[in-house]
Amino acid sequence: MPSSDIIQLLPDSIANQIAAGEVVQRPASVVKELLENSIDAQATQIQVILREAGRTLIQIIDNGIGMSQTDARLSFERHATSKIRKSDDLFKIRTMGFRGEALASIAAIAQVELKTKKEEDELGTLIRIEASEIKSQETVACPTGTSFSIKNLFFNVPARRNFLKSNSVEMRHVLDEFQRIALAHPEVALSLYHNDTEIFNLQSGKLVRRIVDIYGKSYREQLASCQEETSYINVRGYIGKPEFARKTRGEQYFFVNQRFIRHSYMHHAVITAFDGTIPEGSHPFYVLFIDIDPAHIDINIHPTKTEIKFDDERSVYAIIMAAVKKAVGVYNLSQSIDFDD
Ligand code: ADP
Ligand code: MG
Repeated sequence: MPSSDIIQLLPDSIANQIAAGEVVQRPASVVKELLENSIDAQATQIQVILREAGRTLIQIIDNGIGMSQTDARLSFERHATSKIRKSDDLFKIRTMGFRGEALASIAAIAQVELKTKKEEDELGTLIRIEASEIKSQETVACPTGTSFSIKNLFFNVPARRNFLKSNSVEMRHVLDEFQRIALAHPEVALSLYHNDTEIFNLQSGKLVRRIVDIYGKSYREQLASCQEETSYINVRGYIGKPEFARKTRGEQYFFVNQRFIRHSYMHHAVITAFDGTIPEGSHPFYVLFIDIDPAHIDINIHPTKTEIKFDDERSVYAIIMAAVKKAVGVYNLSQSIDFDD
């Protein structure tokens, strides 16, 4: 007698909940994914509204391209994306997203409300979904763009909910994600409210203005601009002058094609370029943008996409180092930074 079969395909709701474990660690992960979606949707204005550090409410309202009724429903399916179609596209990624996993994951572990409308449509769509189950879908009047409300994150995953830290720690994580996106996209107006208090209200403008708006006026005099262009990459941005280096880490940013990444080797290039001008154990401020043909990088290493691989790391290292060295070398020639937007 043949033995009996025991393998079954998991229902979507369980598969999504498992995937959510990777994509959504805490409220900050939701803020990151939704902000990236709004950026990908070409929003020029994005509002973030939180309650209890995002535990009970994360609302993100954008004025982007919105979704059709069918797309709105499909957006919650796993591997449903408008950003890639074929495997070749993986080498041309210019968008923040492409895995089609975030909304399916978030909807598996929260109560979600989506309101969205495209410019050409008269009416929009309102969908309520909870633990991957669509509760209702209606046609509604709403402005062009998209609004997501994520309520009671991890309501059905007590282990995850209990693992969350205090509101102030969770807010710190949210602010980290918010600031990274705000720095990467100074062209987008961004605001953040927590329990009805305005935390940020950032106007669109140049990068230097965005840095000052986030970190304060004291940064204005401390920035030296950085620029180096080759046929392989373009490095641009600002470094803090050496005497501005701080004991605390955390104000170091690399953006590759406007995506925040961590890269210890490239960080080393920056530190090496400061070569002896900063005291041991101090960390220089930097916000550096690396623009590169997406064919030369692999961002598909980790679900949160904060790690990437360059096909020629040594060139990137050398060019970053050259850019920073030059900026450190000329900073005291008192370059004037243009604040007029
Ligand atoms: P990905 O971003 O990897 O495509 P998501 O699950 O984050 O996957 O989103 C699924 C799809 O839903 C996106 O590809 C996009 O078409 C649509 N979408 C999500 N958020 C928005 C938004 N704010 N505005 C317009 N479309 C959106
Ligand atoms: Mg996405």
